[in-house]
Amino acid sequence: MWALSARLRCYVLTVSAAGASAIAAAAVFTHWRVSDAVLYGFLLAFGAITVETIRRAGEPAGSHRDAHGVWELATVVLLPPFYALTAPVVVLALTQWRVRRTLAYRRVFSAAAVGLSYGAASLAFHAAWNRPGLLPSSAPMLGLWVALAMGCGALRFAVNHALVFTAVKLDDPAIALRDALGGRDSLYNDAAELCMGVLVAFAASVAAVTLIPALPCGILLQRSASHAQLVRASRTDAKTGLLSAVAWQREAAIQVTRAVRTKIQVAVAMVDIDHFKRVNDTYGHLAGDAVLAGVAAALNGGLREYDLAGRFGGEEFSLLLPDTDVDEAVRVAERLRLILSRIAIPAQAGDGEGSHITVSIGVAVLAPGLNDLTDLLAAADAALYRAKRAGRNLVRLAGAPPPEAA
Ligand code: GH3
Ligand code: MG
Ligand code: MG
Repeated sequence: MWALSARLRCYVLTVSAAGASAIAAAAVFTHWRVSDAVLYGFLLAFGAITVETIRRAGEPAGSHRDAHGVWELATVVLLPPFYALTAPVVVLALTQWRVRRTLAYRRVFSAAAVGLSYGAASLAFHAAWNRPGLLPSSAPMLGLWVALAMGCGALRFAVNHALVFTAVKLDDPAIALRDALGGRDSLYNDAAELCMGVLVAFAASVAAVTLIPALPCGILLQRSASHAQLVRASRTDAKTGLLSAVAWQREAAIQVTRAVRTKIQVAVAMVDIDHFKRVNDTYGHLAGDAVLAGVAAALNGGLREYDLAGRFGGEEFSLLLPDTDVDEAVRVAERLRLILSRIAIPAQAGDGEGSHITVSIGVAVLAPGLNDLTDLLAAADAALYRAKRAGRNLVRLAGAPPPEAA
């Protein structure tokens, strides 16, 4: 934690302390009842079973979704705020112990942020509905109960995302809310978790035993949440965040087949960092890794949204540019070559000024005899080899005579 920036550290400590203080304050105001403790025990047990079921699959690193809210939302609606504040603490402590050890301060921060968001939702629900645990008998009032429970569930997402997004933003000011929220899968997951949570709360308020048939559904939701994240992780190269070689080839092959069928141009480019071995030898492998990450970020920034960039191998990157003719492909490659040549190698203290990298690029477009991804890759690779032979820091087009010969 001491490696964090002062502002982020201060924020993490404040949220953690606020979570602990809220639990202490709620404990003072709680009217303790055995029936509440029994229901809490039931809900925690189901949360624990869900944690156990993901033990083998593991928990994806970084920010990710889970489906513990299926059980935790019932504590918001049916029990005093103390229970909603503490349920995530128990579930996350169990996850830390049984599934994945991560930095303790991160778990504490997560438990505080999730707990505070449930606590806020619980306060809001009990302020609006002053008969906790009792379901109304008339249909309009039942409708109101469901709307309130959904609204409080949504409030918990809003508070939780706001607390976590603030930490993410303090860590990386450039990050956009859309990226931090995750894609469509994450939103489906949140919506399914919320709806299932309301159903579980409803069932539990009728009779706790009705939670038993809900258990397989909760487990399935938890597994589908981690499945989507693991699939996404398997598509990307961990070091650069670009597509992995396998994922790039799979997706590029589909695009090339489509381009051949619809007679639209497509270009493939191979990018290779010049004398990268020297970068490692001179500045160390960590500096080399930072350069790889810098190249990936520059490729992402310099390409259109529908271009595909992948890490083909060590310091080689593969690009697929849909709907791009030969002139445009060479222009894009030249532009990327210039952008990448501005990447400085991070110099360690005492190493003096970091110098810059250069790259060589081979480009190939669909042509007679070049009509699938394998042909295009082989041609781009041969062009890359010519760029290296001609002195590096160059772009070469497959099949074209070198400019000096022309
Ligand atoms: P050229 O200009 O001919 O491409 O020379 P080069 O030194 O870039 O090519 P070579 O293929 O000889 O060396 C590639 C180097 O890339 C060797 C390897 O140590 C390094 N490398 C591969 N993967 C990684 C990685 O993930 N991190 C780091 N730091 N280095 C890597
Ligand atoms: Mg190289
Ligand atoms: Mg190479």
